[in-house]
Amino acid sequence: VAKPDPILVADGVRRQFGGLTAVDVAHLEVPRGSITALIGPNGAGKSTFFNLLTGFDRPNAGSWTFQGERASGVPAYRVARRGMVRTFQLTKALTRLTVLDNMLLAAPKQSGEGMLGAFWRPGWRRQERENLERAESLLRRFKLYDKRADFAGTLSGGQRKLLEMARALMVDPALVMLDEPMAGVNPALVQSLLEHVTALRDREGKTVLFVEHDMDVVMGISDWVVVLAQGKVIAEGRPDDIRSDAAVIDAYLGT
Ligand code: ADP
Ligand code: MG
Repeated sequence: VAKPDPILVADGVRRQFGGLTAVDVAHLEVPRGSITALIGPNGAGKSTFFNLLTGFDRPNAGSWTFQGERASGVPAYRVARRGMVRTFQLTKALTRLTVLDNMLLAAPKQSGEGMLGAFWRPGWRRQERENLERAESLLRRFKLYDKRADFAGTLSGGQRKLLEMARALMVDPALVMLDEPMAGVNPALVQSLLEHVTALRDREGKTVLFVEHDMDVVMGISDWVVVLAQGKVIAEGRPDDIRSDAAVIDAYLGT
């Protein structure tokens, strides 16, 4: 379905693992400024699709644009720098680093490249200070500031999900992709995560693409829902339309 102003447009994206076609997306558009849910049964190809879009994996075929510019074939760190970031289904927090260091590692110009040279460049210290301020302000917002000096490994599952989301925001992205942000999180934290997700759209004008299994959550906060089954988009639409879509019900009941 063509959107008035899509932030992301994918065409003919296919990924095969041996004889298995994990992703086979003919066409997909993510509306700018929306919260778009990507749903589908286990093994539908949702995480693989995220990996492809963010440069963590390579497709067998297909291309996509982000903000109108070609983004396929671009390495992950550059995709992130352009403003398209993702979190992982299994959190990638570095457990033996402090919470604050996890944030700083995700900062722009802290990727490790040319650090020695950068040290002498004017502006480096300013950049470092700005990164620190941004990290601390995000940690306050996600209620992790008191934990900033603790190893990330000491955080609860839910707190790691919050850290993952906070980390993703270090580059001030236009598109935030969340892979099962609420999975394994206790109900009290789910509410807080949901508020953070809607705030990204409502207060910052960001676009959110997220994978989620809880249909109440999906229907509650999404503007648009895309349904993936066996790698293909089998339906998309507004939450109310998707809820009553026979193919969707079939895909869930059939597995
Ligand atoms: P989802 O996130 O929707 O649950 P995935 O994208 O993780 O689904 O997986 C889609 C399919 O691709 C599954 O059948 C899975 O087993 C397979 N798959 C994913 N990654 C690999 C891989 N690296 N090697 C082989 N098969 C994979
Ligand atoms: Mg997955």
